[in-house]
Amino acid sequence: MIDDKFLNEYGEILCQIERPARYIGDEFASYDKDFDSAQAKFLFVFPDKYEIGISNFGHKIIYDLTNKKENFLCDRLYAPDKDFLSLLKENNKSIYALESKRKPKEFDCLGFGLQYELCYTTVLKILELSEIPIYSCDRDESCPLILAGGPCTSNPQPMSEFIDVFIIGDGEDVNIEVLEKFCELKNKIPRREILFELSKIQGVYVPLIDNYTTKRIAQLNYNNHPVKSPIPHFASVQDRAVVELRRGCGRLCRFCQASHINLPIRERKKDDVVKLAQEYIKNSGYSEYSLLSLSSNDHSNIELILNELNCHFEKTDVSVSLPSQRADKFSLELAKLASAQKKSTVTIAPEAGTQRMRDIINKNLSAEQIINATISCIKNGWNRIKYYFVIGLPFETYQDLKGIVDLIEQVNSTCRSQGLKYPQITCSISVFVPKPHTPFQWARQNTIEEINDKIKYLKELKEKLKNVKFNFHNPKMSQLESFYTRGDKKIAQFIYELYKQGAYLESWDENLDFELYQKVATKLNLDIEQLATKEFLEKETLPWDKISYGVNKDWLLGEYKKAKDAISTIPCEVKCNNCGVCANLKTKKVLDKK
Ligand code: SF4
Repeated sequence: MIDDKFLNEYGEILCQIERPARYIGDEFASYDKDFDSAQAKFLFVFPDKYEIGISNFGHKIIYDLTNKKENFLCDRLYAPDKDFLSLLKENNKSIYALESKRKPKEFDCLGFGLQYELCYTTVLKILELSEIPIYSCDRDESCPLILAGGPCTSNPQPMSEFIDVFIIGDGEDVNIEVLEKFCELKNKIPRREILFELSKIQGVYVPLIDNYTTKRIAQLNYNNHPVKSPIPHFASVQDRAVVELRRGCGRLCRFCQASHINLPIRERKKDDVVKLAQEYIKNSGYSEYSLLSLSSNDHSNIELILNELNCHFEKTDVSVSLPSQRADKFSLELAKLASAQKKSTVTIAPEAGTQRMRDIINKNLSAEQIINATISCIKNGWNRIKYYFVIGLPFETYQDLKGIVDLIEQVNSTCRSQGLKYPQITCSISVFVPKPHTPFQWARQNTIEEINDKIKYLKELKEKLKNVKFNFHNPKMSQLESFYTRGDKKIAQFIYELYKQGAYLESWDENLDFELYQKVATKLNLDIEQLATKEFLEKETLPWDKISYGVNKDWLLGEYKKAKDAISTIPCEVKCNNCGVCANLKTKKVLDKK
């Protein structure tokens, strides 16, 4: 709540900074529960700027579910930008939770959402600003419990000295269980014993205990999906309502972590999706909604859903966006339904240029399907196409790189032969990062020199294609990602030293300082490139072996071997491949009835 007390204390500072609306709370559709009467107080901390955090779907779910529980309170904190931070320091003021305006250490638990590795130093800075010891071992009974969830917990080791409890898998149920248990045991038994008790919960990893754990999965229903969320006072990254269509993806692309850690596929029921979208739009006033999924047009009833929603919103200006389209299931009807009157950019993800490489990564996509989907779009008025490619993949040759340009040339020549104007093509080209819990977790990453040679080669080949633009992801950034994501406990010291040297909000280009990374690595005798490009041996213990996402390690290894021979695997939607998830988690895939 914005009251006089708050304005007297922070008003003057807020008037001097960029976007003060980030720090005042009181957004439309936010909760404002009574702090003192809540029996369990949870602070969701997003270690990035407000406009990134407020758009995050996972944070919306946890915020809504926790606040829906009687006697529970969930407040929010986003990382203050540097201007606000320096004024807080200058004026000797503390950071505060957005709604209650309380100090973080007044809460029972702080839960960090770890979405990407470059937010690690920001976590440490927020702990310092919260007056909570940085190292878990230095915390006593008076400190809140420090939790972390999100995709980065797939390998907790780099952050294991700073976080008390990691949540593995879907956070819906387990987050509340941990909070409940902690509040029940707090001040009754020593903190160390509480952590031991928490480590017995499935989906919880406690570094102090170093227990094995298997992820938790949530069953998706109407009641555990938010139908409202705080509406920022200014435009955020995703200014729209978000409805989750399905979780998990059975395509099992071998480099894709999201696909492997979110199994099994769980589709929301058609009627639930329709009702959720209608409710969310009604409660928020947004004029756009997005149907969230790793592969939207794989939902069994996607066309029916879009038809029903388009009918419902027919006389309004409400439109829908589909974040991802598969070229093999690309449907013109769907594209038309999704983009209504707007002829915006169509995005297709071939990921690799040759059939051999697409088989290696298990993309299950032919050149013909990619070209046909593109031509259909052009014929129907879309003249801007965006392709996603990855370079530096395992077993890649220069012939595979040439395949990227060849594929685009084939699109152009098909346009020529059919009398169509060439489309404007943008290729977003990222660098392969080997991720834990995927078949490529053992693979080496290319060195920066190798990637730079590949980029140079592609740029030269592209010269003749005037309608094409290549956007390359920064190879240094990808190297850092690989260094962190497969790192062990040694990385903790690196993160701490970086934080001490002032690294903060590093996911923002202007804050990334590669020289600082090298300086810290040299001081600690670490070789970033050597660790990032390391190939793990089959029998080697991996830093993330204590964490199971249900997929059998032997199955992942089998997939890696199949990749070497360019043998693809049938999607889980079509046929079960016995990856281990359903047996190990005693569950099954949930597809909506057609
Ligand atoms: S066990 Fe079979 S059905 Fe279950 S997630 Fe794995 S491949 Fe899919």
